[in-house]
Amino acid sequence: MPTSLTLAANGQSASQSHPLPEATKPQARCPVMGGPIDKALYVDAKGKRVYLCCAGCEGAVQAEPEKYIKKIEQRGESVADTPPAE
Ligand SMILES: [Zn+2]
Repeated sequence: MPTSLTLAANGQSASQSHPLPEATKPQARCPVMGGPIDKALYVDAKGKRVYLCCAGCEGAVQAEPEKYIKKIEQRGESVADTPPAE
């Protein structure tokens, strides 16, 4: 007696639509005044290099580096690491 099997293909694949990769762009703007950064102006703090728009922002970042690093990250921008000193 032939037995016909009915294949119940359960097409429940494990591939879930994963969220879009968070685009981390490099720091583009000063966390203090919001101006475009000048690569020649920065403050090294907490192992990070925070770029600034003008020298007037240096003191603010030096006083509260964590606050401004967080501010940059909250904008979806990445904060560069301080290059190791030679
Ligand atoms: Zn500035």
